[in-house]
Amino acid sequence: MAYHERCMSSSLASLPSRRTVFGMLVSAATLSAQYAAGRAEAADDRPLDDERFMRLALEEARQGDFPFGAVIVRDGRVIAKGRNVGRTTGDPTAHGEMVAIRNCLAEQGRAALQGSTLYTSGEPCAMCMGAILWCRIGRLVFAASVQELATKIDQIALSSAEVATKAPFAPITITGGVLAGEAMQLFAK
Ligand SMILES: [Zn+2]
Repeated sequence: MAYHERCMSSSLASLPSRRTVFGMLVSAATLSAQYAAGRAEAADDRPLDDERFMRLALEEARQGDFPFGAVIVRDGRVIAKGRNVGRTTGDPTAHGEMVAIRNCLAEQGRAALQGSTLYTSGEPCAMCMGAILWCRIGRLVFAASVQELATKIDQIALSSAEVATKAPFAPITITGGVLAGEAMQLFAK
């Protein structure tokens, strides 16, 4: 929980350039209020760390059978990785986030996920966001948004924040737009 609390307490600094960052504590507040809050998370080395871990998620995405990848970080260390393997395994639920979560559960157990940070190349769909909340992941960082992805592929038109706001029992901080351009380039063909 210490890591989780640090995440919550460091969302005060100014907005970094060339990013759309909307860090927020999603709770019972209304969705519009959360977006309006628009608090950035640029304290200390956080942006650099976010980009560093997002690059690992993007690397996973490049190796997936569809360009989505995720890494789960705890105490500054990657504890699990996942990439989309739905096409090769015939499992439509094998999204990068789900694979990373399942890998983490299999190798480290449920406690490791609680309060961790999940980095994903694409904003989680409703299924993955549900899993993220049920597992009590404390922070979500994504690159391309559902809206951006929907210009290229089918998407369930629900943002991660919209799902999270319906689950006040599982507070989570969400940061979007980290290396979004690089994530979208994976769909450029
Ligand atoms: Zn998903």
